[in-house]
Amino acid sequence: MLNIVIFGAPGSGKGTQSERIVEKYSLNHISTGDVLRAEIAAGSELGKTAKEIIDNGQLIPDELMVSILAAKLDALENSKGVIFDGFPRTIAQAEALKKMLNARGEDVTAMIELDVPEDELMTRLLLRGQASGRADDNEETIKKRLVVYNEQTSPLKEWYKNDGKHCYINGLGELDRIFADIVAAIESKLG
Ligand code: ATP
Ligand code: MG
Repeated sequence: MLNIVIFGAPGSGKGTQSERIVEKYSLNHISTGDVLRAEIAAGSELGKTAKEIIDNGQLIPDELMVSILAAKLDALENSKGVIFDGFPRTIAQAEALKKMLNARGEDVTAMIELDVPEDELMTRLLLRGQASGRADDNEETIKKRLVVYNEQTSPLKEWYKNDGKHCYINGLGELDRIFADIVAAIESKLG
């Protein structure tokens, strides 16, 4: 099985590139942001908890996030592999993911880091906010999300380097070129 972690700051293009990777490799796509937004739209208890945290630019607590992810993984049948989009976002989540996959006799194949400068992230997210009305895509919340990313999520680059899975991708430029770089990185890890 092919298990890909797509990684990067908010607005780095994880969702966009995930769609292409899913199509090429016939993977299941688990986007934790999409899962949480679906819970919010459904008005569930989990959705109410999540909305307050997301609108404040913070992270859902690890324990809760890991149990949501585990349920999504358990629900898969005949999967050729998974692209994890928006998970892990903390070291604790990365450790939990490794345990879950190892327990199934698997591991992360590659961690794809999409690197995009902060001024470009801000521009993209403000544009997305105008188009989609996503409540967390406003300047104040974006700034908080970038701080959270730098403090809690960015250390995962080192963590995955130590695990031999990290692949650096320049996330600035043409979508086709970025996708080609991602495919080359995945193939390099397949050996
Ligand atoms: P992108 O634009 O690259 O898709 P994003 O950061 O804008 O990324 P999502 O991944 O959709 O957005 O996540 C939205 C919010 O959901 C996060 O800001 C966070 O509050 C919450 N969230 C999503 N995944 C996690 C996670 N793994 N752990 C904790 N909170 C999460
Ligand atoms: Mg997304």
